[in-house]
Amino acid sequence: MTETDLGEWIIQLRHEGPSHMVMPAIHLSRQQVGTLFGEVTKTPVDLEDIDRMVKVARKELRPAFLAADMGISGANLAVAETGTLGLISNEGNARLVTTLPRVHVALVGLEKLVPDLAAALRIIKVLPKNATGQALTSYVTWITGAVECGSSPSGKKILHIVFLDNGRLALARDPFFSEALRCIRCGACSNVCPVYGKVGGHTLGHVYIGAIGLILTYFYHGKDQARAIVRNCLNCQACKSVCPVNIDLPYLIKKVYGLVQKAEGARPAKNIVLSAVLKNRRLFHALLKVAATLQKPLVQKEAGVLRHLPFIFGKVQDFRTLPALAEKPFRDLWPKLRPQIQNPTYRVALFGGCVVDFVSPEQAISLVRLLDGHNVQLEYPPDQNCCGLPALMMAEEETAMEVAVQNLEALDFRRYAYILVLCASCGAHLKEGYSRLLAQKPEMAEKLRLLHEKLIDFSSFMVKVLKVTPESFLQNQTQVAYHSPCHLCRSLGVTREPRELLQTAGLDYAPCRDEDVCCGFGGSYSLEFPEISSEILRQKLDHIEETGAEVLVTDCPGCVLQLRGGMDKRNSRIQVRHIAEVVATNLKKTGAGRH
Ligand code: SF4
Ligand code: SF4
Repeated sequence: MTETDLGEWIIQLRHEGPSHMVMPAIHLSRQQVGTLFGEVTKTPVDLEDIDRMVKVARKELRPAFLAADMGISGANLAVAETGTLGLISNEGNARLVTTLPRVHVALVGLEKLVPDLAAALRIIKVLPKNATGQALTSYVTWITGAVECGSSPSGKKILHIVFLDNGRLALARDPFFSEALRCIRCGACSNVCPVYGKVGGHTLGHVYIGAIGLILTYFYHGKDQARAIVRNCLNCQACKSVCPVNIDLPYLIKKVYGLVQKAEGARPAKNIVLSAVLKNRRLFHALLKVAATLQKPLVQKEAGVLRHLPFIFGKVQDFRTLPALAEKPFRDLWPKLRPQIQNPTYRVALFGGCVVDFVSPEQAISLVRLLDGHNVQLEYPPDQNCCGLPALMMAEEETAMEVAVQNLEALDFRRYAYILVLCASCGAHLKEGYSRLLAQKPEMAEKLRLLHEKLIDFSSFMVKVLKVTPESFLQNQTQVAYHSPCHLCRSLGVTREPRELLQTAGLDYAPCRDEDVCCGFGGSYSLEFPEISSEILRQKLDHIEETGAEVLVTDCPGCVLQLRGGMDKRNSRIQVRHIAEVVATNLKKTGAGRH
């Protein structure tokens, strides 16, 4: 059997699988392909001349088309109303393979069925744009029934259409996973995936690769193939933001991880411990305070980092310094910090999140100062727990659900005009994650509605609600670069406000390459996959250093940890700070607020 798609033929000659759904040989350089063609044809090939290489392939493949008795194709769509198959390609190979041989067998996944031509045309328009950036591919082939065929003795083509189930019908019946069948195989979710960008499709996939591959592999190829890859997701949401058919890929990936664990019959010990601790807020916080005491011999106090890593982190974690827990969490500092504003303009609850509370309370202290200066009464509801995202990342959905309910109970929504978050990941999880997790709990619907209505990130609050002006800030024009956290720019859709706030606060914003690409943190991901996390971080830091900025600013405490740890390891002069800190630093002393 001879593959006729150029990329597929190349990997067939190399006896390997595809590394991309649309461009199966994208992992190879032209020199590697030229060398391969030279070996196959036994004639020297110019390793720089791509046009020549394409001609070599054409010369080799044409005899195979002419000699073949049977051509096998897939189909990009199958129109139920007319029985028509649609094939989209850029090389014309699909057209040759379906017309020249006397027998044509089309293997069509059941999900390729569309009701009518209008639905088929929608796919034909969307697919090339998202796959290769073309308005239309070079060839669109329509086949309706067995047509005339010169190479067939009967003069008629013999056509077999084989519909492939292979797990698709089970997927269609699943209330959560059925949305994965909307996939049109454009490959866009791989193109933007930072993990795919580092490890490629041979590692991040089996046959289907990238984000959708992490899901489909479980259903089409089983848990053993899925187990190896499904945890390899940073939850950066890049795939979801580009998917033209709106599949919630990161959420489904976590659900597949849960299925793999269930099928294996045993939850990892770390999951059991994390669940037990997170569900019990008092225990969780008590353990963090004990850890803050025990870490003391390892801490370099001025820098607030662990100078000697405990052995459990091992050498591979050495790519960044790890933060120390704060001596006192924000919740213990709060009684002395709590502002008493008479006639406040707004009453606002801070949802702190674990990192702000136990690692970086200075970020919340900056917020207190800023809001105090703008006549806002800030409150810190004491019963708030971890947002629950770490539990969801470990596919502990039950725990994530329980923690979500605890937090909704802890927030008295009628009391506050806004629920403010300093952590983009907490904010995104409260808004998007809670809606999915608690969709089946009608008793939580009203609280969810209020949460949606009142949740706001720091920058949006400053720009859109307080409408801060340059007059409130020292205009020292410190040059700052900005890292746009995945969960802020993609999940919460906040992009303009942080940049505007920096400029209003008298800072000189220096744009940076790939500002919205993940920093490689991903919570526990950076601990579990340090080799990949460190590579993503390295590239990020390189881009930031190119800006020449003195300070790097971001609005997610998790990103601050990763970026600051990386800069520290490089002995860089660039300071990494939360946006609330740099904005508070530039706030003019007005004496407003506190009474
Ligand atoms: S969420 Fe990010 S890391 Fe995970 S699959 Fe999607 S793009 Fe890749
Ligand atoms: S999941 Fe979405 S982005 Fe990924 S290949 Fe399918 S349609 Fe394209």
